[in-house]
Amino acid sequence: MTPGCISNYGPTSRRWTPRRGWCSSLSSGKAGPPGMIYSDLILHSGQWGRLVEAFGQGRLAHAYLFYGPAGSGKEGHAIELAALVNCQVPGKDGALRQAQDGACGRCPSCRKVQGLQHPNLQLVVPLPRRVPITKKDPPLKALKPADLEDLTDQLASKARDPYFPVRLKGAQSILINSVRELRRTTYLKPGERGWRTILIFEAEKLCTGEGAAANALLKLLEEPPD
Ligand SMILES: [Zn+2]
Repeated sequence: MTPGCISNYGPTSRRWTPRRGWCSSLSSGKAGPPGMIYSDLILHSGQWGRLVEAFGQGRLAHAYLFYGPAGSGKEGHAIELAALVNCQVPGKDGALRQAQDGACGRCPSCRKVQGLQHPNLQLVVPLPRRVPITKKDPPLKALKPADLEDLTDQLASKARDPYFPVRLKGAQSILINSVRELRRTTYLKPGERGWRTILIFEAEKLCTGEGAAANALLKLLEEPPD
């Protein structure tokens, strides 16, 4: 789907359980160890190391596809990368923290990324289309209040647990309105110092139906903002 590096994550020892889903050890919301924001993410050190190295050398690509089996921590690693590129702890020279140290996991920026509430972080997830919307409407307008409440609850769970699957009932696709919103906002300056970061969960659902959302995203991938 994207130019640039492709990260291939292997399976982990995580198992699905009906009662707790993938979250076999829900985190308490505490900051992770130095270099990480999640305390319970099983790190794929080879792939992660390449991303950290690329960031440290200033050659991080503008888009990455994280692929692998369900439960392998793809989304958690993507959130960690968003924390790393936005961590505000200064290095020795006053520049952003050096990449080899990873994200500090404790500064206000890292905490906001972990809470999925950083202004530089934009999440795209499959949504149900409960209400007719027009081309110009924001995607959340397609939801009913109960869906919005469910989404808020699920994102709060995701903020605590990198393995929590965000799955709204009836969400079969990523709405084209979600991509239109990205195209409206991506070229704006980041809300805070750091990198504007867009995470698309279940990106394969861009291709549902005739793939209109995937086609709409192509232009953004081919002509990213500077
Ligand atoms: Zn930080």
